[in-house]
Parts: sequence; C-alpha cells; structure tokens
Amino acid sequence: MTSIAFIGLGNMGFPMAKNLLGAGHAVCGFDLSADSLEKLEAAGGTAAASAADAVRNAEVVITMLPAGKHVRAVYDDSVFPNAAAGALFIDCSTIDVDTSRAVAADAAAKGFLMLDAPVSGGTGGAEAGTLTFMVGGEDAAFERASPLLDIMGATIVHAGGSGSGQAAKICNNMVLGISMIAVSEAFALADRLGLDRQKLFDISSKSSGQCWAMTSYCPVPGPVPTSPANREYKPGFTAAMMLKDLDLAQQAAESVNAITPMGKKAAEFYGKFVTERDGNLDFSAIFQKVRGI
Ligand code: NAD
Repeated sequence: MTSIAFIGLGNMGFPMAKNLLGAGHAVCGFDLSADSLEKLEAAGGTAAASAADAVRNAEVVITMLPAGKHVRAVYDDSVFPNAAAGALFIDCSTIDVDTSRAVAADAAAKGFLMLDAPVSGGTGGAEAGTLTFMVGGEDAAFERASPLLDIMGATIVHAGGSGSGQAAKICNNMVLGISMIAVSEAFALADRLGLDRQKLFDISSKSSGQCWAMTSYCPVPGPVPTSPANREYKPGFTAAMMLKDLDLAQQAAESVNAITPMGKKAAEFYGKFVTERDGNLDFSAIFQKVRGI
C-alpha cells in the first residue's frame, strides 16, 4: 500500500483517486471544493484541510489541476515546503511545457523526483481506469510511478525527459482539433452537395479520410451513436478545453519557432466558437459553426 496525496479532485482527479483507493492504496486528498472532499471521504479516502496537510506524510504526490499557474502555486506554496524527503511528484494536469519543465527543475533542485504525466481518455477513461498517460521525466521516477499509473490507465508511454509528456499531449490534441474541423467541413460540404451524411460516413470511414474524429467521435448525429452529437453536444471534452490545448500548442510552437499554420487557424476557430457560442459544449459542436447552424 502506498500513501498518496491527491490534489485536484475535479472531473478527472476524483475518479483517478477513486481507482487508487479501489486498488488498496491510501489516498489523502485536497481540493478547493468542499463537494469534492465529501466525495473523496465517501469513496474511502481522507480529506485534508489543506494541500500542505495532504502532502506531509505522502510517499507520492499526484496533482490534477486546471492550468500551469495552479500547478506552479500548489508546488511552491504547499508541496515543496511540506513534502516528506524522498516523495515522488506526478503532475497529471495538462499545462504548458515551460512551466512543467521549470517546476520539475525546482523539484530536482530540492532533491525530489518529478514526472509530468498528462492524460488522454476523458472522464470516461478516468472512471474506467483506461487513461493513456504520456510521461516525461527520469527513468527512476517512471519506474516508481508505473504501478500507480497502471491502475489509472491502460496505456502508459514514457515519452522522454521532463516536459515530454506535455509536448506529446499538445501535439496529439493539435491533430485532434484540426481534424475535427476538417471532418466538420466535409459533412457541411456534403450537406450542401446533397450527399447523405451516413453515406459520406460509410465511405470516408473506410477510405483515406478515416480518422478518430470521423470514426469514434463523429460530429454529426447518427453515424456513431456514442458521439456527443447524438446528445446535443453534451461533453465529453469541452470546446473550452480544446481551446486551452490549442493555445498551449501555439505557445509551445512560438517558443521553438515551429511552423503550425493549421494549428493556429484551429486555435482561432475554437476561440471564436467559445466567445461567440458556448465553450461548455463538446468540442465536436464546432460542426455547428462550420455548418452555419
Ligand atoms: P476540473 O476543473 O473538473 O478539476 C480541477 C480541480 O482542481 C477542481 O476541482 C478545482 O477545485 C481544483 N483546484 C484548483 N485549484 C486548486 C488548488 N489551488 N488546490 C486544490 N485544488 C484546486 O478539471 P478536470 O476536467 O478535472 O481537468 C483537470 C486537468 O486535466 C486539466 O489540466 C485538463 O486540461 C486535464 N484534462 C481534462 C480532461 C477532461 O476530459 N476533463 C481530459 C484530459 C485532460
């Protein structure tokens, strides 16, 4: 049994912590939301009064927070000053590569091992324990973290040194953002040309237009019954979160002079959707903007 501090028990963090509890580990958690703490206690965990209290006796500290500024603040204010010697830190939040590398470097300077381990698979994957983990950091830290990541995920990839997990995550989601717009444009054009949506799906899903946005998460109702399009675009993965990841990709691209014009366009497109429509809709609702609905 490992003693784990889990900070950030939101839509993703709570089910991840619950799976660790289910596997017999001790989880002491902290979140700013009282509801989340109550849920943790109901699932058999211990609610801490603060992040500092949560980490004091932990062998492993896991964070699942909204953005880089939250990660920076929680590590500086609570984790670094209070963690026990030898504790391993695993940040599963999706944040910018620079902050991720800077926090890990500060951890190393204080004698701690730290991994960035962002995930893909959404709340469904978090609940089922089937997340994909993209992990950056030293081999020794990866080996120590692996048994815990195996409980929360189905696919665990050591992507490279510090920040590589975040790099993999934003590259992957840049593909997803661009391809969701591309698939939406294809369905919008098919509508105008009088081509039946199901026929386009039957052909494209077996042809070179095949991609995850088409076959697993189709943005029009009908062809893929489990896709959010069939439930009025209830998320899923919100457009606001997709915008966050596309902005992180652009920030990273600028920092290394990478040329990503389609990624830039996709970020602008999702930015308009979130401002003009509703960032709480699933990101596949971008079809509505493309179609002019
Ligand atoms: P969420 O908003 O549901 O949860 C974040 C939690 O962090 C909240 O409960 C909030 O109260 C808590 N929090 C914020 N600041 C805190 C602090 N200082 N101390 C303690 N708790 C604090 O978000 P989420 O959907 O769980 O996403 C978490 C991370 O996972 C994000 O970085 C997101 O990009 C990433 N992610 C989300 C999904 C998804 O489908 N939801 C998928 C993959 C990755």
